[in-house]
Amino acid sequence: QNIQVAIDGPASAGKSTVAKLVATSFGYIYCDTGAMYRAVTLQAMHNKIALTDESKILTMLKQTKISFKPGEPVQHVFVNDSEVTEDIRQPKITNSVSTVASLPSIRTELVERQREIAAKSSIVMDGRDIGTAVLPNAQVKIFLIASVDERAERRYKENIAKGINTPLSQLKDEIETRDRKDSTRKTSPLTKAGDAIEVDTTSMTIEQVVKEITKIINL
Ligand code: C5P
Repeated sequence: QNIQVAIDGPASAGKSTVAKLVATSFGYIYCDTGAMYRAVTLQAMHNKIALTDESKILTMLKQTKISFKPGEPVQHVFVNDSEVTEDIRQPKITNSVSTVASLPSIRTELVERQREIAAKSSIVMDGRDIGTAVLPNAQVKIFLIASVDERAERRYKENIAKGINTPLSQLKDEIETRDRKDSTRKTSPLTKAGDAIEVDTTSMTIEQVVKEITKIINL
């Protein structure tokens, strides 16, 4: 029987880092659903489609392949065979993706693709609606949270490592704005599933979070 581990939570709570490590240690595949919403946003911008034009974006998406290849330290992301791993992390994508993610038909299409990926193997999938909508029957559901100051701080350090110097206060505003948009949209807003276990990572290291989730999976 395939095991499904759903990891949800707000922006920059460390979901993808720990989800990937947990997946590797259990030998499960890892699916970063946020990368799929980011890829759609990037491709729509590339094609100069307004991010509110749901029917045009859907038509585009139906002809767009989004795929992943394993990699270290991050998984590689492809749109129609061109690599977009770094492009989808640009601040302009980060700050626009919630608009695209609020379009119901785009969610329906991506959720279908996410379930197809999950049908193939045991999986760790991270996002905003995995435990509530994509994999409601997942055996393990984790809701990762951290204080907004801690999340802004983590994003700040990541940016510095990439040579980007955005003020901490701006990062905090951007994270809060994105969380607000993601939690107030009509279709599958960001919420903790009733049966999810909340893990507050504010004062935890990545290793401690991985250990905690490993313990929960082995329960
Ligand atoms: O996880 P990440 O921060 O890369 O996700 C980017 C955005 O994609 C989120 O802010 C949210 O708008 C959207 N998203 C979503 N549902 C998911 C995963 C991501 O709406 N399952």
